[in-house]
Amino acid sequence: MSYTPDSNRYQKMEYRRSGKSGLMLPALSLGLWHNFGAIDNIENARKILHTAFDNGISHFDLANNYGPPAGSAEQTFGQLFKEDFKPFRDELVISTKAGWPMWDGPYGDWGSKKHLVASLDQSLSRLGLDYVDIFYHHRPDPNTPLEETMAALDLIVRQGKALYVGISSYNPEETQNAIKILKELGTPCLIHQPKYSMLERTIENGLLDVLEANGVGGIAFSPLAQGLLTNKYLNGIPENSRANAHRGNGAIEEDAITPENIAKVRLLNEMAIERGQSLAQMALSWVLKDNRISSVIIGASKPEQVLDSVGCLKNTAFSADELQKIDNILA
Ligand code: NDP
Repeated sequence: MSYTPDSNRYQKMEYRRSGKSGLMLPALSLGLWHNFGAIDNIENARKILHTAFDNGISHFDLANNYGPPAGSAEQTFGQLFKEDFKPFRDELVISTKAGWPMWDGPYGDWGSKKHLVASLDQSLSRLGLDYVDIFYHHRPDPNTPLEETMAALDLIVRQGKALYVGISSYNPEETQNAIKILKELGTPCLIHQPKYSMLERTIENGLLDVLEANGVGGIAFSPLAQGLLTNKYLNGIPENSRANAHRGNGAIEEDAITPENIAKVRLLNEMAIERGQSLAQMALSWVLKDNRISSVIIGASKPEQVLDSVGCLKNTAFSADELQKIDNILA
């Protein structure tokens, strides 16, 4: 049966501009790093995508290496796009990335023009798309001149294979340099994708200021610290959790669920209850309180998590006392 999205979807979501660009992004985007691989259930993946789009989540974030195995999340998305989402292509912002190990040999990784162009061609083939909306360099490459990597992003836009480009996990200095080179080439940097959550605040030391000064958007990944900033680990490690699944590729492991972390999460959970939110909702609201953040990219292993997370939009304001209390808990 063909998929009919909820006709009310755009009333349920808030849309924010990516920096000073023309592109609006949903305050919540959905990432396909985990739960969309060949090892995962495709019907569950379909339900998660439907629930997201039904709630106004119009941005799906991928990368060449998402799975496992690497490449299979793009394949899953490609199949579901063909079956369910093709009529809605112009309502969707689809992103992918290259820069982490993908295939054997010197061209399967990092930031050369050779890697970026070949990887995006492979991604487009797996996704079944003519172009992606955003193409990212996934991480800085210390051994390739930044000029070459940025020239590859510029080329890809001129070839029509991506509409916009971004960078991920670049530090403030690398970011400033990349923005300058891209500007000179005539392809502005749309967005930076850093890790940001109540538990990971490095970008407050300079990166957010660089983005604001240059009119570049920010889109936060792992805003729930891969599930640690939810109530799921309060009473141990449940069987159906990412920490229990040993998925590799940077996924949270059991040793991150320390008694010290859980003690803090427990106090945050009590605060969330006082605010009338789930802890996941409070953690997302906390990231979204900063208007330099255009969107948070959530992950989800089931549709109910998407619904819970979207509920954060009901309360994204924090009093100065609440912010201080959170800082004290996390200190
Ligand atoms: P999150 O921090 O949102 O973690 C998602 C996980 O948290 C889910 O899989 C689920 O865990 C749990 N969860 C989500 N919602 C809820 C809820 N409401 N209640 C309870 N538990 C919940 O994000 P991710 O770490 O998955 O990252 C999101 C996206 O960011 C990725 O898919 C990817 O697109 C992008 N990313 C980019 C990176 C980069 O280098 N640029 C690196 C990493 C991510 P469980 O599976 O255990 O149920």
